[in-house]
Amino acid sequence: MGSGETAQLLTILVSGVVGLVVGSFLNVVAYRLPRKMSIVEPPSHCPSCGTRLGLIDLVPVASWLWIRGRCRHCHAHVSPRYPLVELSTGLLCAAAAGALGSFWPVLSVAGILVCALAASIVDTDGGTIPVVLAVVGALGSVSLLPIAVVLGHTDRLPWAGLGAALGFLGAFVGDRAAEPQRWTRLTLLTCLAWTAGWLWPGGGAFVAAWIVVATAATGLGTAKRAPFVILAAGSVLAVLASALISRP
Ligand SMILES: [Zn+2]
Repeated sequence: MGSGETAQLLTILVSGVVGLVVGSFLNVVAYRLPRKMSIVEPPSHCPSCGTRLGLIDLVPVASWLWIRGRCRHCHAHVSPRYPLVELSTGLLCAAAAGALGSFWPVLSVAGILVCALAASIVDTDGGTIPVVLAVVGALGSVSLLPIAVVLGHTDRLPWAGLGAALGFLGAFVGDRAAEPQRWTRLTLLTCLAWTAGWLWPGGGAFVAAWIVVATAATGLGTAKRAPFVILAAGSVLAVLASALISRP
């Protein structure tokens, strides 16, 4: 195995582990943000008996398997959603690292993908997608600007710039709109489309087409609720496919 391959494997591994930890944090965010609770206080506790969770309860995926899906104190059922979210975030980050092949865009792209995942969880719960997710997505698009310069992809600057501008516009309008939900969804989907466009110009067009078709199919334009998870999943797949296609 060459040193390039070793570095590549290491990047995938580190990204996967970071993804697991981010997924654990995502569970907290997805639970507390729509309920307007603080993310830092109080510390993680069992929602049934209120016992504060120790380090042993907070290891991503492994803890849930170790306690066999039950609270160690009151034996209340712990939803398999927690390890599933952790696992999918870990896999998503590892896949982004594997598909991108270079380290720097991983953080930005994984950040945008994770925001889409968080929005999907909140939306599936029937909650309002927090505007902060759209802002983080837009920040991810902004960070692709200097990365394009560093990697010498100046031809990709218009894509990243447009994505960032539209992302912030969406977050700004969404924060003030009567129906912010639609705007936050649209902003995140725009960020995903522009990420794909940044990676592979054809990918942006592909994601845009996917969003139009899926939007028409799920009736996002008219209905208040449409499965954002479907829109996000398709767009995320397109982002990963774009990354693979654009690899040197
Ligand atoms: Zn408990």
